[in-house]
Amino acid sequence: MKILVANLGSTSFKYRLYEMSGSDAELLAQGGFERVTEYTPCIEEMLETLIGDKIIESGQDLDAVGFKTVLGKDVSGCVKADDQVLDALEGFKEVAPAHNPAYAEGIRCFQRMLPDLPRVALFETAFYQWATAASTTYAIPPAWRALGIRRYGFHGASHKFIAERTAELLGREDIAERARRLYQDGPTAFSGAPVRVISCHLGGSSSVTGICNGVAIGTSMGFSPQSGLPQNNRVGDLDSMAIPYVCKMLGLSVQEAEEQLTKDSGLLGLSGVSNDLRDILAAADDEHQEANLAVDVMVDSIRHWAGSFFFKMGGAEVIAFTAGIGENNPDIRESVCAGLEDLGIRIDPEANQKTVRGMEGIISAPDSAIKVLVIPANEELVVAREVCRFIQS
Ligand code: AMP
Repeated sequence: MKILVANLGSTSFKYRLYEMSGSDAELLAQGGFERVTEYTPCIEEMLETLIGDKIIESGQDLDAVGFKTVLGKDVSGCVKADDQVLDALEGFKEVAPAHNPAYAEGIRCFQRMLPDLPRVALFETAFYQWATAASTTYAIPPAWRALGIRRYGFHGASHKFIAERTAELLGREDIAERARRLYQDGPTAFSGAPVRVISCHLGGSSSVTGICNGVAIGTSMGFSPQSGLPQNNRVGDLDSMAIPYVCKMLGLSVQEAEEQLTKDSGLLGLSGVSNDLRDILAAADDEHQEANLAVDVMVDSIRHWAGSFFFKMGGAEVIAFTAGIGENNPDIRESVCAGLEDLGIRIDPEANQKTVRGMEGIISAPDSAIKVLVIPANEELVVAREVCRFIQS
C-alpha cells in the first residue's frame, strides 16, 4: 500500500512516500520545496518526479495521502480529511495561523488534483487525548472553557515516535507495541517496570512532553503552538496580562500585538540576530549579549519543562532529544543536562559530541541511571502507519 505523507508549512511543501505492509514501512521517495507560495505546482512537480523516477506510473498508484494536521476545532485523532476537517481547521485558524491555513489549502489542492485519492488527517493533538483534565484545563471562566480554550499539545507525531523508539531501544517490546497501537487500543492495562520518557523535540518549533509507558501525560505547548518553549520567531509562554499592558503602553491593536508575538518574538525577538539557533550561537560566541540571553532562555525553558515532567512522573528512565536542534547540537544537550548528576543524569561528553546529523545514539555515561538518547525525528512514519490503518479499517 503506497502512502504519501504531505508535510505542509506556510512556505514549504515536503513529502515522503512509503510502501506499507502492516506497520512495516519502506521509504520509497522523499522530497520537498522551499519558499512555496502555491502548492499546486509543487504537487505537479512531485508527481512528475515520482513518475520520472519510476516509483509510480501515475497518481492512481497512490493509495492515500496523509496530512499531519495541527489543530482542529472539535476534531482530533486520525480522520478522513473531508469538509468537516476543513471546517475544523478554519474554526481555529486564528489559533494556529502559521499552520491551519497551509493544511486547509494543501488538502484542497489534493482534492482538486487527485479527487479519487483518499485523504486522511492525523492531528498533532491526538497524542494528548489521554492526558488528565487536571493537566489540560486552564483556570479560566466557564464561558472561556466552552470556547475550547484548554491545553491541546502539538508535535504529537514526533513525540509518539519517540515513545515507540525509546521503548525499542531499551528492549521493551511490550511498551513499544503499546505505544505503536495507542491510537487503536488506547492505553491498555499495563503492569511492569515503567518506562518514563522526557521527550525534547527541539527544532524550528519546540516542545517537551512527558511520556509514561508509551502514553503522553502532558506537554509544554498549550492552547496554541506558540506556548511553552520559545519558538524560532513565535513567543513561548507569556503572562496573559502582558498583552493588554503592552497594547496600552505602545498603542498597539490586538492584531498588531499578535503579529509581533507570532513573527517577531521567540529566539528572533530575544536575540535580534536570527530565528535560526545556529546564527544565534555564532553571535553568542562573539559575546553578543542578547544572543547569549536567547540561548540561556531556551535552555532554561527546556529544563523547566523537563523538570516538571520528571516530578509529575515521579522520575524518568529516559531523556530523549530529537528534531533539528535536539539532533544536531551537542552543546545545548549538555547544557540541558548539566549539574543533574544527583538526579542520575550523567552525559558522556565524547558520545554526545559525536552524535549529530541524523545519528541515533546513547549520549549518557554507562553509569548514568537515566539514559539520555538522541533519536532522529520520524513524524512521517507515524502518520503513514496511522493512515494505512485508517484506510484498511
Ligand atoms: P526542524 O524544525 O526540526 O527542521 O529544525 C530546524 C531548526 O534546527 C532550525 O531552526 C535550525 O536552527 C536548527 N538547527 C539545525 N542544526 C542546528 C545546529 N547544529 N545547532 C543549532 N540549531 C540547529
